[in-house]
Amino acid sequence: MTGKLAQIIVLLGAPGAGKGTVAQYLKSKYDVCHFSTGNLLRNEIQEGTNLGMKVKGIVASGGLVGDDVINEIVEKNLGETVGGCSIVVLDGYPRTRRQAEVLDGMTSGKLKALIRVVELSIDREALISRLSQRLVCSECGNTYGPKDGKSTCSCGGGLIKRKDDEESTIRERFRKYEEETLPVSSYYGDRLVKVSGSGTPDEVAQSVDGVLCSFGIEKRR
Ligand SMILES: [Zn+2]
Repeated sequence: MTGKLAQIIVLLGAPGAGKGTVAQYLKSKYDVCHFSTGNLLRNEIQEGTNLGMKVKGIVASGGLVGDDVINEIVEKNLGETVGGCSIVVLDGYPRTRRQAEVLDGMTSGKLKALIRVVELSIDREALISRLSQRLVCSECGNTYGPKDGKSTCSCGGGLIKRKDDEESTIRERFRKYEEETLPVSSYYGDRLVKVSGSGTPDEVAQSVDGVLCSFGIEKRR
């Protein structure tokens, strides 16, 4: 995994469409660096960088980390990555059309040609019903669906319904996602490929393999 940064894969998908699972899969089978905005923010805080201190202050005061700070953190990390990592998977960024435009302009516009987008699409009502029936382990965070028929986690922890998984909360998250992210999908136009997130994890993985192959990206040997 040497040489220049060759590709940036942006993962898009509604809450619960399986972006996390796909990101894990990519990490296990391909030579990729995975950047999620959450992890990038946590790293900055842990390393005590200037940006990290700024983020810490914002979070401590209950504020939301704004676009400018997030853009700056992504650009810094992509800059540091060039030379160390040939494929970067971005997860949770860009979230808005404005961020997508900023990303295209990073490193004097040189990144733009490297960006390809994979959007996980999923039947909205099916997803809402799945999420609203989801249970989460209060100890380790593993999630279980109704099909699992479990009342305790394999770690021994109790299963609870997250407040976030109430149907009304899920609908609100969707509305917000569609409002912000649909413009991102249309912005990318033919740089974007849609993959169905509705199948089994194996089926989704297979579709993702096909798309990456079409981008000229091969699995780790
Ligand atoms: Zn557990």
